Amino acid sequence: MRAARLPSTGSDLVVEEIPDPTPGPGQVVVKIAASGVCHSDVTIQNAGPGMPSVPYFPWTLGHENTGYVHALGDGVTDFEVGDAVAVWPGWGDGTCRVCRAGHEHICPNVSYVGVTQPGGWADYLLVPAARHLVPLGDLDPVEAAPLTDAGLTAYGAVSKVLDRLIESDRSVAVIGAGGLGQFAIKYLSALTSARIVAVDIDAGKREHALTIGASMAVDSTSDDAVGQLLNVSGDGLGVDAVIDFVGVDSTLALAAGVTAPCGAIVLVGIGGGTLPFGYTNPNQQVQVGTSSLGSRADLASVISLWKEHGINADATRYSLDDVNQALQDLAEHKIAERGVLVM
Ligand code: NAD
Ligand code: ZN
Repeated sequence: MRAARLPSTGSDLVVEEIPDPTPGPGQVVVKIAASGVCHSDVTIQNAGPGMPSVPYFPWTLGHENTGYVHALGDGVTDFEVGDAVAVWPGWGDGTCRVCRAGHEHICPNVSYVGVTQPGGWADYLLVPAARHLVPLGDLDPVEAAPLTDAGLTAYGAVSKVLDRLIESDRSVAVIGAGGLGQFAIKYLSALTSARIVAVDIDAGKREHALTIGASMAVDSTSDDAVGQLLNVSGDGLGVDAVIDFVGVDSTLALAAGVTAPCGAIVLVGIGGGTLPFGYTNPNQQVQVGTSSLGSRADLASVISLWKEHGINADATRYSLDDVNQALQDLAEHKIAERGVLVM
């Protein structure tokens, strides 16, 4: 089969022929229809110290995968060859207390497809257990690929702040209105009546955010970014929740400076920054946390949200051979919503 593989840190990917996978007992081989391109891939490609990196080279990336069941290992009865499926990306041991509580994606023994297990930028993907597959029904697998990480992770983050946004006059800032942040804006718009503020350095992303549910857009590099965010509700207290999809020092400092008392800050972006944190900064009784992916149940919810509210990402399509162009376009903010490799 063809696979787009990273030969070494900082290199372009190379599309080459490698052996097709075969399923062992309980395993499933998925014929990949599409696989999304995430900023995490750019980070992994250029992994600096402390950043996510792959176990060995050459390495097949790709963690946003959809396709069709191609071959079933012994004992798999939940799926049939040809079923359209989304691949849930966080593969835990399935047995520890984190997994048993439904959080397999943050299991201490977790493997992430495309990061610590070979990914789906290839014709076929070996999935080690049928429980990692979620049926897609009649959804288009190409359009659905970004749901498996961008859509899922944004949902996981949004669900952690919904309780802050129940009452009227609530507001929420989404820092980084790219692939993940746009999903967050769409969910917040569908699920709350909160005022949604998109914060981005890129003018095109800020403009686009206003067309998908944000009512205000702030340039994080402008001198009055803090002032604008403190005054979203007109009382100078700041926003009730911040979801930071960038996660560098400057965005975390912004989050700390603009979150209202009893608000929440959720960090998703793998920017390597540190939140300035003390008893009164962020404001008093602000809850701070991280959010990683989402559970398998969350992926099923995300698929339902697409069916009920039409929430998905506009896919910019690339062939597998154009993988390096897709990565470059993402890094240069040229992709409007989400880049997808179509096999
Ligand atoms: P993206 O490139 O599509 O979007 C990032 C956006 O942030 C862009 O619009 C960019 O203009 C904006 N941005 C960059 N620097 C900024 C700054 N200083 N201030 C404001 N805006 C800024 O990226 P993506 O694919 O949406 O990924 C977003 C982040 O989420 C990445 O760090 C990625 O690694 C991370 N991620 C985390 C998880 C998780 O489970 N926690 C999962 C997937 C991705
Ligand atoms: Zn576990």
